[in-house]
Amino acid sequence: MIRKQWISLLLAFLLLCPLFSAGAENADAGQWFCLVCGAENTGDSCRSCGTLRDVWICSGCGTRNLSAACHTCGLEQQESLRKQAFSGDPLKAYPVLRSMAAEGVNEALCALAEYYAKGILVPQDAETAAALYNRACDAGYGPAFLQLGKMYDSGELVPQDLFRAMECFQRAAELGVAEAYWYIGSYYEEGFVVNRDYRTAREMYTKGGENGDPDCWMSLAYCYASGKGMERSFGEALPLYEKAAEGGSSLACDYLGYLYMTGDMVPADPEKGLALYRKAAELGNARSMMALGYAYLTGQGVEPDRAAAVSWYEQAAVAGRTDAVAIIRRLKAGD
Ligand SMILES: [Zn+2]
Ligand SMILES: [Zn+2]
Repeated sequence: MIRKQWISLLLAFLLLCPLFSAGAENADAGQWFCLVCGAENTGDSCRSCGTLRDVWICSGCGTRNLSAACHTCGLEQQESLRKQAFSGDPLKAYPVLRSMAAEGVNEALCALAEYYAKGILVPQDAETAAALYNRACDAGYGPAFLQLGKMYDSGELVPQDLFRAMECFQRAAELGVAEAYWYIGSYYEEGFVVNRDYRTAREMYTKGGENGDPDCWMSLAYCYASGKGMERSFGEALPLYEKAAEGGSSLACDYLGYLYMTGDMVPADPEKGLALYRKAAELGNARSMMALGYAYLTGQGVEPDRAAAVSWYEQAAVAGRTDAVAIIRRLKAGD
């Protein structure tokens, strides 16, 4: 009897709540996701791997558990699942992310959406990615608005829709996502879907920078340096470039590195230039890796060191610079 009542209550809830009727990864009645393999199930054990419902593998010691804490090392289940879900290892994370997404955990919805957007472990599927982001958006999760906005902005997976993108960025900014201000600023700077307005663009970049997005300082610096809606002023731009570099903008580190290496606009300071290139490289900037390779090859600011040069060019190649491959070949052939 109780069960029947429960089911009719649930049905009423589902009818009232269109949110649960669309897309994958929904917590439908009795549906669950295996924490070991990620398969979707309705029975008592996983149809794919046979694991009993709710069994989880401790991310600390590998023990299989059914209780709220690992019976070998004591790690709490919730902490273990979180570690696993955001470990950066898709194979480990995927089963747990599916389960957490079904429970409506916003970070998990966004992480799983990225798998569908990029086709990691699942076939690339823009519709499911958007549906997952939308569920997190409906829960008022700012980063989901940012990611959805980027999807509409780039138009790689869904037809480009800059109006919708702008709406998403504005919601994300209202919800405190600093990076969203960069997009809003750039829309005002370029005149996308709004009238070009450099003053508002600068305001947006300033807000984003103050809220912790270093690329906003970079773009603001560029506004000053190129005289967007004002007189050009490298003197105003330089401290902003420095601020962007300190905050971790790889573009700013790379650009300032170039200025200090070459003495363009600033007094040449190869030591500082190389340090900035190294920071940019650590942040994944492939152009700085190329520049470091060149510096070690030619002895620009450092003792020439062929092995170090090859190593930097190799890192650049791994980061996607195909032009580094030919240089490595030449260097290894002894040219
Ligand atoms: Zn399974
Ligand atoms: Zn354990």
